[in-house]
Amino acid sequence: MEELIAITRGKIEKRQLSPEQEAKWTDWKWQIKNTIRTIDQVEQILGIEFETKEKEQISQTIEHFPMSITPYYISLVNIKDYKHDPVFKQAFASVRELEIADHDMLDPLGEEKDSPVEGITHRYPDRVLFHVSNVCAMYCRHCTRKRKVGDRDFVPSKEQLEKGIEYIRNTPEVRDVLLSGGDPFLLGDEMIDWLLGEIEKIEHVEVVRIGTRTPVVLPFRITDKLVEVLKSHGVLWLNTHFNHPKEITKDSKEALEKLAFAGIPLGNQSVLLAGVNDCPIIMRKLVHKLTQNRVRPYYLYQCDLSEGLEHFRTSVGKGIEIMESLRGHTSGFAVPTFVIDAPGGGGKIPVMPNYLISWSDHKVILRNYEGVITTYQEPEHYTGGNCDLHCDRCELQHVLKIKDEEEKTTGVAKLLADFDDIITLTPNEEDTDDNRQN
Ligand SMILES: *Cc1c(COP(=O)(O)O)cnc(C)c1O
Repeated sequence: MEELIAITRGKIEKRQLSPEQEAKWTDWKWQIKNTIRTIDQVEQILGIEFETKEKEQISQTIEHFPMSITPYYISLVNIKDYKHDPVFKQAFASVRELEIADHDMLDPLGEEKDSPVEGITHRYPDRVLFHVSNVCAMYCRHCTRKRKVGDRDFVPSKEQLEKGIEYIRNTPEVRDVLLSGGDPFLLGDEMIDWLLGEIEKIEHVEVVRIGTRTPVVLPFRITDKLVEVLKSHGVLWLNTHFNHPKEITKDSKEALEKLAFAGIPLGNQSVLLAGVNDCPIIMRKLVHKLTQNRVRPYYLYQCDLSEGLEHFRTSVGKGIEIMESLRGHTSGFAVPTFVIDAPGGGGKIPVMPNYLISWSDHKVILRNYEGVITTYQEPEHYTGGNCDLHCDRCELQHVLKIKDEEEKTTGVAKLLADFDDIITLTPNEEDTDDNRQN
């Protein structure tokens, strides 16, 4: 405890540490062993003091939603104005988490409903979410899986993971496996090696994705050894979770560089959070810093309806305003897709400003980011349409075989297609369940 405080204070005050102290600081296992879980520790490390009443309320919050902060992440807090600090707000429990709003849900994304076996969420036809770990280095206060946070020290065994692997093995339409958690990188190197190896053996799996916040809250986890393990497997994509430009530090940059140099495409998923990053200028700075570090902004999420997140939620309009300030104003590849993860488990729904403002039978009217209104003339003789799924009569040189039935469109796209007579779509519970679980 004393040592933890001495080292972390040293980092906050930017003092030179002894080589032994420095070695501990950069050892991810030391960081995990020393995660900060009590208010007293936070008070001592940041040199602050809460009032008795406030402290009591925060304790109640922690009883309900436990706290865990890596020494590294807390060292990024600006102690002079910690109450408004974006790092502090993401890491430190707020009394407001106990305000449960009427519409809040325990499992807003319906992940349990769409779970055919323990650990797997199968919502989309060709890809699954595989929860391979139930622990995180830091418990983000805005976690959408808040209901699960604090089932402490639950690291699944190989036998438990086998069930998920078995499901993927027996479900040939799964071509994309997303490893999530918890944080997959809190598994040991050997476990990760084993897991990737097992998934790799499944022929129909084309890509594996990892979602991890370690580059943000525990950059020292990205060791040379881990990178070697990742490199030794098949096609791997990685998404991380930076929410604010101040999270991009020298240490996180090094972690990102190691991953990028291993040939792993990097993406970022941010969550729009009131009082943290609900500002077009902050978001622009963030996406610029990300791209400078070879990270492609992938999604910007509207905050979910999980219990205890009400104080983090913004209006949807704030997200649209941010998108308006990015598209056209900066590099296209720095612009994420703003999505609302549909409550009840409908998946991600993209939301953006309207650019198509009117149209006629031969012209569309568009507006650009500057507000310039323009017309696009449609071709006079376009005959692409009318697909009856008889590829042998088509000139596009792709022949749909009977076994490729699944290539047929479903959902709203089916309304646009010509091979089916349906004119309305009334999704019924059975159909959608079928799709997800079969
Ligand atoms: C987000 C998510 C995915 C992946 O969605 P992409 O849009 O392909 O990134 C897959 N399954 C579930 C359940 C998800 O929530």
